[in-house]
Amino acid sequence: MEELYAELCLTSVCASVLQAMHLPLPAQIAPPNPLLAALREKKLGDRPADRVLLYNPDAVALWLYQKYTAAFAPAALCSDLALPVRSVMPTVTPVCFASMYTGVLPEIHGIRKYTKPVLQTKTLFDYLPAQGKRCAIVSTEGDSISRIFLERNIDYYIYDSVEEVNETALALLAADNYDLITIYNGDYDGTMHRHGPEGAESLAVLEHNVAFYAQLVSAVQRHWRGHNVFYGFCPDHGCHEIDGGCGSHGLDMTEDMNVIHFYGMQAAE
Ligand SMILES: [Zn+2]
Repeated sequence: MEELYAELCLTSVCASVLQAMHLPLPAQIAPPNPLLAALREKKLGDRPADRVLLYNPDAVALWLYQKYTAAFAPAALCSDLALPVRSVMPTVTPVCFASMYTGVLPEIHGIRKYTKPVLQTKTLFDYLPAQGKRCAIVSTEGDSISRIFLERNIDYYIYDSVEEVNETALALLAADNYDLITIYNGDYDGTMHRHGPEGAESLAVLEHNVAFYAQLVSAVQRHWRGHNVFYGFCPDHGCHEIDGGCGSHGLDMTEDMNVIHFYGMQAAE
C-alpha cells in the first residue's frame, strides 16, 4: 500500500473557527473542514459559537493514536470527533502553526523553515479582533506560538513553564473574558526529541497532555455552560524515531505529516 496521507489539511482549522462563529470567510483561505460544519449544524443549529478553545499540544502524531489508542481515551470521550489531519511541509512547529491560524499554505504565509518571525499574513488573531472578539494566547516563552502571532490586538500570557501556562488557561477559562483562548503545550515535543516518541518519559508527557485537554473540556462544561462552544485538541505535526533512541520531525513522511485532532461542540444550556 502506498503511503497514506490524511485527506483533511491543517489549513482548514482557520475557516472552521470563523464559520462556527458566523464570521466572514476570507476568499484566500482554505475552506472549512466539512465534518466540523456538519457537527456545528448538529450541535448548535443556526446559533454561532461564541466561545472557542484551541488546545495545541506539540507533535502528537496520528500513529501515536493508532498505536496507543487507550492512552487517548480521556480526549476521545470528551470530544465529538477524532480526525486524521494532514500537516504541511516542512513539518516544523512555526510553519505548521502559521498554516493552522492563517488558513493558508507556507508558500503564502511565508514561514517556510524553522524560523519564528512575526507573521505578516492575517490570522485568526486578526480576523477575530476585527469583529470585536477578544483573544488570548497562553504559551511558553520563546516558543513559536509565543512569537509568530505577536503584534496583534490580543492578550498574551507567556510563562516559563507548562505548569504556569495550564494554571493560567484554567483561570482565564473560569473568568470568561475571552471569545477565543489558544493554549500551547510543547512538552511532549521536547521530551520526545530526547527520549524518542515512544520512550517512557515521552508517553507519560503525552498522557499528561491528553489529561489536560480533558480537564479543559470539563472546565468548559462547568464555566461556559451558558455559551455555544467550539473546542479542539489540535497538534501541529507528528514525529518519528531516529538513531540513538531520539525523536525528530520535519520530513515529508506519514509519521510526521499525519496528526490526530479531536473536536467537540457544546450548545448553551
Ligand atoms: Zn511542533
